[in-house]
Amino acid sequence: MPSSPPTATSPLPAGAWRPDALVATLHAAGLRPMQARDAAKVWMNGYHRDHLDRAAALALVPPVQARFLAPLLLEDRPLLAVEEVIAADQTRRLLWQTHDGLVIESVIIPADNGQRVTLCVSSQVGCGRRCAFCETGRLGLVRNLGVDEIAAQFRLASQLWNRVRGQLPAISNVVFMGMGEPLDNLENVLNAIALLTHDWTYGLSARKVSVSTVGVAQKFAAFFAGTQANLALSLNAPDDARRSELMPVNQRVSMADLKAALVAHLPRGRSVLVEYILFAGLNDAPADAELLRAWLDGVPARLNLIPANPGPDPRLQSPTHEAVWAFQKQLLDAGVRVMVRYPHGRDVGGACGQLAGAHRQKRGHNEVSHG
Ligand code: SF4
Repeated sequence: MPSSPPTATSPLPAGAWRPDALVATLHAAGLRPMQARDAAKVWMNGYHRDHLDRAAALALVPPVQARFLAPLLLEDRPLLAVEEVIAADQTRRLLWQTHDGLVIESVIIPADNGQRVTLCVSSQVGCGRRCAFCETGRLGLVRNLGVDEIAAQFRLASQLWNRVRGQLPAISNVVFMGMGEPLDNLENVLNAIALLTHDWTYGLSARKVSVSTVGVAQKFAAFFAGTQANLALSLNAPDDARRSELMPVNQRVSMADLKAALVAHLPRGRSVLVEYILFAGLNDAPADAELLRAWLDGVPARLNLIPANPGPDPRLQSPTHEAVWAFQKQLLDAGVRVMVRYPHGRDVGGACGQLAGAHRQKRGHNEVSHG
């Protein structure tokens, strides 16, 4: 993540430009700084905020500046809505087809009794991390998503949501918890966050953007240097043996090393959200709560307990409500900041990747495949 505005030497898909990069590139191409800034602002307002297409937004720019701008803006790669499934709790799971015929998913999640609406986005097609509880992990990594493809999930989902939301608020929060490990596509994820949070585009607050990772420790420094967005760490086990079984990433970075990297790189005054999926009989015993408390000791963290959704491994089941409550109470009594978060949209597919996984099976594995 460069500290000065990045410039591009070749055109990009229209929806892939960060505002600061577009200004810098227009300036490098010969426009004066104010001309470059004005042209980029007018075009981005039209394209992102007013949802115009590339050409219509370009028509708003004075002709002198538009001559510099037009060659930099390739036509966007289309993202087509192919399926929408609405759950009883009004969660909407959206499937998109990419320009090369692959399938990704986003999820619109109304929460807090309709006070807040969050969009869960994908950062990759498939995922190479192969967590045992995740459908997406079964697909393997197909490719990274581009900045335009990540931002388009927000743009298109917002348009869809605005047509149907009635009195409910617009989408204000974004979580990178869909398909993919975001830190494996860090540059594009950071550029997409910079785009989504800019005043000229959607003006999201970076504090309302969360990036969920299995713990790619060597990317923590670059992540915190590149954004004010929140980091969420998917922990899910109280010791190395069980975490390595559930999450192969742990075979390379132990929980002790993960904790050390987190503490070393977390900026002063910021905290991390730790997510812990509870699996009946696997990681929900009182001794496990104590191991988890000990791991959290010294980490500025809030803890979310997530009762498991049905996943690809039938041995991984959700605990009873009583077991979840007992686990939470033990941690609360020990002074841990802990909440239980029940997954939204359980009736239309559970954990990340499940809808795309189900769609792939139904359609004969055509959309998502290696190569
Ligand atoms: S849980 Fe996340 S990181 Fe793990 S396989 Fe699924 S998408 Fe990848």
